[in-house]
Amino acid sequence: MFRPPCCPYRSCPRHCSPGSDFFVRFGFYHPRCRPRPVQRFRCRTCRRTFSRQTFRLDYRDQRPDLNPRLFLSIASGLGLRQTSRNLGLSLRCTELKFRKIARHLRRLNLNLRGLLPIGSVLQFDELETYETRRNTRPLSVPVLMERTSRYVIWAESAPIRPKGTMTKARRRAIREEERRFGPRKDLSARSVKRVLKRGAELARGLPVVVFESDEKASYPAHARSTFGAGHVVHRRTNSRLARGAWNPLFPINHTEALARDLMGRLRRESWLVSKKRRYLDLGLQLWMAYRNLLRRRFNRDEESPAERLGFAERRLGPGELLSWRQDWGKDSIHPSSRRGTPISRRRRRRAA
Ligand SMILES: [Zn+2]
Repeated sequence: MFRPPCCPYRSCPRHCSPGSDFFVRFGFYHPRCRPRPVQRFRCRTCRRTFSRQTFRLDYRDQRPDLNPRLFLSIASGLGLRQTSRNLGLSLRCTELKFRKIARHLRRLNLNLRGLLPIGSVLQFDELETYETRRNTRPLSVPVLMERTSRYVIWAESAPIRPKGTMTKARRRAIREEERRFGPRKDLSARSVKRVLKRGAELARGLPVVVFESDEKASYPAHARSTFGAGHVVHRRTNSRLARGAWNPLFPINHTEALARDLMGRLRRESWLVSKKRRYLDLGLQLWMAYRNLLRRRFNRDEESPAERLGFAERRLGPGELLSWRQDWGKDSIHPSSRRGTPISRRRRRRAA
């Protein structure tokens, strides 16, 4: 039976230190979107009421039943408009649901991770895409992953300056953009640093960090400053080497190809496009959760990448990914718990 792990109100002292008997059961209510009644509770300290639903991601959602379908649809390469047509939702509703789900999955991804096991190897690369206009607003997306498990540690987008073949029309378009918005900033170095830092947080337990990338001139300095000069072995591969399965960077190239396939907005020669890069970042979070927690590492495998690294006990289903709210860090309820056990307590129990 479900037990609330704490009082959900942050201002209440029972939020941080709930103790064993901080609540009383306080009847039921019958939501119109659910077949079964929902248990309500009252906090003994602040005397405010809440329910099992207060701890769910779909708290206050109008159509909670559509959340898993919406998640799977976007994680399968469809765009927001086509998803809204298929589900019979308005475009606005689909957008808002997508944002809520993606922000939730970002927290879930962070809450479930622990330290990388010995023998882990980090691989890093940057892929290019754009926001709104391919000619004038290119983006760089640094991606960091663990090589053997194919666990994607982090990916985010950064604006870069237009480069490549310049036709007359393209130069004119760039001049016009600069006149309206000022020169386009190049924030890729900053975002590479942020992505590598996410890796360093997970690699704290490793005696030495093995880091693989291509030969871009700025990477060695980034690797030394993030992981520590005496603490990193940097293996570099020429990016002109053919991209077959025997290429040392095949795992990351393959993961990027997968991302381009499963995220319509990253696909080349496609009508789908991110209009603003902050929503591309949310899309990346959704894809990372799908890749790390739900999908098998390879089709022949049973395990997900997170499972191989010991971050999850098994592959999670779409319903579990979208189950409990994750905004209380590691004190949030574990996605596969039915009774309401927090992630931290479940970890401690497993370790014992
Ligand atoms: Zn309370």
